[in-house]
Amino acid sequence: MSLNAELIQQRLTTVRRALQDEAVRAGRDPTSVHLLAVSKGHSAAAIAAAAAIGQREFGESYLQEALPKLRELSALKLTWHHIGQLQSNKTRQIAEHFHWVHTVDREKIAVRLSEQRPHYAPPLNVCIQVKLAEEAAKGGVWPNEVLQLAQRIMQLPRLRLRGLMCIPPPQPEYAAQLEQFRRLAALLATLNHEVVAPDQPLDTLSMGMSDDHAAAIAAGATLVRIGTAIFGERPE
Ligand SMILES: *Cc1c(COP(=O)(O)O)cnc(C)c1O
Repeated sequence: MSLNAELIQQRLTTVRRALQDEAVRAGRDPTSVHLLAVSKGHSAAAIAAAAAIGQREFGESYLQEALPKLRELSALKLTWHHIGQLQSNKTRQIAEHFHWVHTVDREKIAVRLSEQRPHYAPPLNVCIQVKLAEEAAKGGVWPNEVLQLAQRIMQLPRLRLRGLMCIPPPQPEYAAQLEQFRRLAALLATLNHEVVAPDQPLDTLSMGMSDDHAAAIAAGATLVRIGTAIFGERPE
């Protein structure tokens, strides 16, 4: 496999600058926007190239693909986010090897993740995935189901609810992107107002990808998930 570490580092630098500019333009503190480098489909060497210039947070979607990379890169002490759909038979290894899970959308999965989180590790950071439109292939709970699942997750001892995540349907128009992301931001504000202790607010809005990060940041994204713009097109 050919790998151009320098190209990855150049692209990463460009993405960082773009996110910074977008935060400033939105009147936000640029340090409140974190970049999650989505490395699914790319090699451990590609991840190491990004890590070499300070990228710490990486996202993976497929457990079987991710595990060998996590193993190979364990000495780098990176932070791993699971952003793919969850199946019950995969929760144990996810609870053992990842630091974050963005796609919790069922109580049963949440309970398993909590029970299977190893005692030696800190609680697993989780986000609830919310669907903002009907799309058969994507997971997520509807907005009116978020409150109940959030309350349940907050009772689970080995999970730490951090916030909400969405993958909205692709929208070419900035205004339409913004409208969707604002709905997720409003939902997080409601949760913080209604169910969360004021001293431990949910602090995470995982939203925005390569093609819509400007709108996501304008709407309050704290964790932007970007793959292609850093690592290039994924090999088939
Ligand atoms: C693949 C993926 C991304 C990154 O998408 P790009 O278009 O490559 O930036 C972000 N979020 C999720 C959930 C993904 O599966």
